[in-house]
Amino acid sequence: MIFLDAAATTPVRREVLEAMWPYLTGEFGNPSSHHSLGDAAAAALAEARKTVADVLGCRPGEVTFTSGGTEADNLAVKGIALARQAADPALNRVVISAVEHPAVEESARYLERFHGFSVDVVPVDGAGRVTADALAAVLGPETALVSIMYANNEVGTVQPVAELAALARERGVPFHTDAVQAAGWLPVDVKALGVDALSISGHKLGAPKGCGVLFVRGRTRVEPLIHGGGQERGRRSGTENVAGAVGLATALTLAHAGQEALTERVVRLRDGFIGAVLDGVPGAVLTGHPAERLPSVASFCFPGTSGESVLLELERQGVVCSSGSACAAGSDAASPVLLALGIDAEIAQTAVRFSFDSSVTEADLDAAAAAVLAAVGSVRTLGHVPK
Ligand code: PLP
Repeated sequence: MIFLDAAATTPVRREVLEAMWPYLTGEFGNPSSHHSLGDAAAAALAEARKTVADVLGCRPGEVTFTSGGTEADNLAVKGIALARQAADPALNRVVISAVEHPAVEESARYLERFHGFSVDVVPVDGAGRVTADALAAVLGPETALVSIMYANNEVGTVQPVAELAALARERGVPFHTDAVQAAGWLPVDVKALGVDALSISGHKLGAPKGCGVLFVRGRTRVEPLIHGGGQERGRRSGTENVAGAVGLATALTLAHAGQEALTERVVRLRDGFIGAVLDGVPGAVLTGHPAERLPSVASFCFPGTSGESVLLELERQGVVCSSGSACAAGSDAASPVLLALGIDAEIAQTAVRFSFDSSVTEADLDAAAAAVLAAVGSVRTLGHVPK
């Protein structure tokens, strides 16, 4: 099987599992316990926090461990917006882009439904990018928070985060970015990016599912969403997932140690794959930005097919990929991300996303490109394969 669905999830790396093992077995203590087992767990958690902070270029106290990317996004969007509204009730608008993951979008909608906020959605251009002018047009004196993702999970488009964050900063508005897909592929130095909050998920990087990180800058106030024992400096109660934190820290370090070389290698492979598909499949369209895109994502529409049928045919040929985001999989609705890029709903139904992890090889992608040519050809000849 050639697994080209790494944007959905990745297997746990051996080094990560080995780093976690002690905290799942002998060193199983609760970091809040006042005995040697507890102390060992607390020390491991502190070390993991420092490791993550080193990669992000921030202080350990600015790192909150969460149960994943979704929780990190919820905590950033709801937590920062609610804290700002509590300090000044006039701050009752949040800005998001039109291509956010549901973890951000639905958090903003929750604020709208239950907390009197309005949501301003910044449009994207045909390549999926937010421009500084488009953001400037919606920023106002009532904006409590801006949340614009670093890289999109469906089409891979990378946003000009540093430029957008600088604009928000000029207006005194905190800026959050969902870096769940970007981490491991693009620099995540929070100072260089100029962001006030940034989300990461472990399972996109070779750590297990169910662990994540939210960076929140300095004194930015965050209203906790989970109440209890006051762990994570009161930001996120609940006994900490020590092994998960250790695993995430290990995976993030491994990913960023070789990030530049990896990016260079995978960009070359990705571009070869994109070229082979565009040359070989008549009418195929690359979605997202041609250059400002994740090294790891190649996404297309294949007019005259259905994405789900192409997916089934590809799986029969040993290639596993996705018709959109994992969260939207199984739904027949056209992807809101593709619609936001101005893609016609009928064409959007023909979307297929290929996403790679660091182990991808040229041979994998040569075989996958050949399979795509055959799969699209057969779906077009035979019509839609019934689900
Ligand atoms: N944000 C983006 C951009 C994602 O791609 C995902 C997962 O697909 C998430 C957030 C949610 O992360 P998690 O699966 O860790 O909850």
